[in-house]
Amino acid sequence: MSARPTQPAQSPVTVLGLGLMGTALASALLKAGHPTTVWNRTAAKTGPLAAQGATPADTARDAVTASPLTIVCLTTNENVRALLAPEATALAGRTLVNLTNGSPSQARELAQWAAEHGITYIDGGIMAVPQMIATPGAYILYSGTDEAAYETHRPTLRALADTRWVGKDPGLAALYDLSLLTGMYGMVMGVAQAYALIGTEGIAAREFAPLLGDFVVAMTQSLVPGTAEALDTGQHLTDVSSLAVNQAALPNFLSAYAEQGISGALFEPLQAVLDRAIAEGYAADGLSRLPELLKQS
Ligand code: NDP
Repeated sequence: MSARPTQPAQSPVTVLGLGLMGTALASALLKAGHPTTVWNRTAAKTGPLAAQGATPADTARDAVTASPLTIVCLTTNENVRALLAPEATALAGRTLVNLTNGSPSQARELAQWAAEHGITYIDGGIMAVPQMIATPGAYILYSGTDEAAYETHRPTLRALADTRWVGKDPGLAALYDLSLLTGMYGMVMGVAQAYALIGTEGIAAREFAPLLGDFVVAMTQSLVPGTAEALDTGQHLTDVSSLAVNQAALPNFLSAYAEQGISGALFEPLQAVLDRAIAEGYAADGLSRLPELLKQS
């Protein structure tokens, strides 16, 4: 009788921080069969995960020593620093993946701190909401000095979402993350302003939604690649919509916001940028010139 092939054991992993996102991450790891140790400042949040098979730890120190890999997902990197500074010795020789939202400089500082204590540090940026974790379309950006460690733990990380390595500078995952989210927040601001404006005449948001959604998608599909092409070739002249015509139109938006009784605070700063573009001689260029005008000299 031939021996039945044994399944390779899934690698143990620890999750620190069981908010909406941390809970989704831990749950995905459990579903993928990883022995998962969990810790949260408010201990009660470990309950549902324990019911799924997680091992709750009494302290963050107990949690990190349970696994070669710790994933941390707290509100801010200040929280991460405060939580983990006393646990440097416990983390030494292990890998720390930080999926907390933060800036490139925060990631680099945490990487520096980790290197000083013999901790392998990988920074990450989650491009998903909790409901998307472990579903197609979700991905997580990673960066750090030790790409080999990332490859070692990639089978575990893939249980969370698709993985995208963006480089050995620990700050790069945060840079990509914030750049992508900047695009999202621009859209959020535009959508908020559009609903506020249309709503001033009692038009139902549901009625307006298909028009708005289709228009934003159509504009995005041409704007994003078109701007990239212009930036990479340095060719900003346009036959679509010049900065001059946009500068001339923006006061109509701002006065309409005022007349209809809504704030123009989100859009007023655009006027100064467009005015500057014209003053500096870019009237015939398209909107693709704007990223260059945002550079601080
Ligand atoms: P939640 O508010 O749901 O959870 C925050 C977590 O941080 C909780 O576990 C909380 O513990 C913990 N925490 C806060 N302060 C401290 C502290 N001083 N010491 C220890 N633990 C602390 O946030 P999310 O889970 O939604 O977000 C977590 C991170 O993930 C954020 O950086 C966020 O930007 C990022 N993210 C979130 C996404 C989302 O859609 N939710 C999407 C992509 C990224 P306690 O339960 O005790 O309060």
